[in-house]
Amino acid sequence: MVTPIPKPGVLDITPYVGGRASVGGVADPIKLSSNESALGPSPLALAAYEGAAKDVAVYPEGSASILREAIGETYGLDAARIVCGNGSDELLTMLANAYLRPGDEALFGEHAFLVYRIATLANSAVPIAVPEKNLRVDVDAMLAHVTPKTKLVYLANPNNPTGSYLPHDEVRRLHAGLPPHALLVIDAAYAEFVRRNDYEPGIEMVANFPNVVMTRTFSKVYGLAGLRIGWAYCPAAVADVLNRVRGPFNVSIPAQRAAAAALKDREHIQRSVEHNAHWRDWLTEAIRATGLRVDDSVGNFVLIHFPQTKGRTATDADRFLCERGLILRAVGNYGLPDCLRLTVGREDANRKVAAALAEFMRRP
Ligand SMILES: *Cc1c(COP(=O)(O)O)cnc(C)c1O
Repeated sequence: MVTPIPKPGVLDITPYVGGRASVGGVADPIKLSSNESALGPSPLALAAYEGAAKDVAVYPEGSASILREAIGETYGLDAARIVCGNGSDELLTMLANAYLRPGDEALFGEHAFLVYRIATLANSAVPIAVPEKNLRVDVDAMLAHVTPKTKLVYLANPNNPTGSYLPHDEVRRLHAGLPPHALLVIDAAYAEFVRRNDYEPGIEMVANFPNVVMTRTFSKVYGLAGLRIGWAYCPAAVADVLNRVRGPFNVSIPAQRAAAAALKDREHIQRSVEHNAHWRDWLTEAIRATGLRVDDSVGNFVLIHFPQTKGRTATDADRFLCERGLILRAVGNYGLPDCLRLTVGREDANRKVAAALAEFMRRP
């Protein structure tokens, strides 16, 4: 039997599997597996979403101008250089579609977000996962892997699932070592959660260089993951390219309106950021107190390391927690088979996880 053959690379893709939402036999489990917002979206966003119901017979305005204007106003950016996407995943993929030819190379850190590899392989290009140092992107190693074929460099900053970040001067150093034909894509999905003086999400970089793009999302601090909305801030020429390759109506009317409304509720965002900072630090300390290693994180999640001792492994812990209705994320596919990633949740969820992990470590 002859079947149609996809482009080289496509069949090398391991399909992305999202965080589980249910576990067999447990009613109302707590989902802490996908870094969604603990507090959910602003009521203003929900009201705008519901209000859009009466308008769904009509195509959305294709360039998402109401949302681009709102983003531009909120962040002080030129709306003409913002491109919205059906989640930032779509933008990360569109960049690969537009800039990678077969055989080109895309660089990213060894434990980087899986979408980079998928988007690269889908374009018959070569993913280069560069070794990290202490679970953080190693700029020297990245630069050592640059070749004339390097067209894209994806940098998740902060990175998921490690929770680490590169300070601004390191991002500058990475960029300074890249040839002008390579595009640096700074994926700042967790930017709003970071409270470090030496962090810059990428706005300043995009303002200064023709080969830097920053992507952002409404899925995390804004609590709108289900609506699929992301945006990219780009040099004018890159925005022009993305506007040629994107789907003509890639962001729906309800999504545009909900996201624009979410931006207006600064108080809700502030509350979400405060909640996250408090409980992320609390979880880090509480889980360390059980004897487990937890890395410092600047995101809305923490990475927990488990020993390889029988009965105490990450797989054992995952099973133990699932039986108690607590769903974390196994990250073996990120090259971290001994870890689980825990999203910061509401207070009761955080307390339950910490107590369950303490029990897990105490049991004989
Ligand atoms: C969650 C996440 C995103 C956001 O993806 P969306 O498609 O916007 O939901 C992007 N990058 C990283 C590293 C993430 O963890």
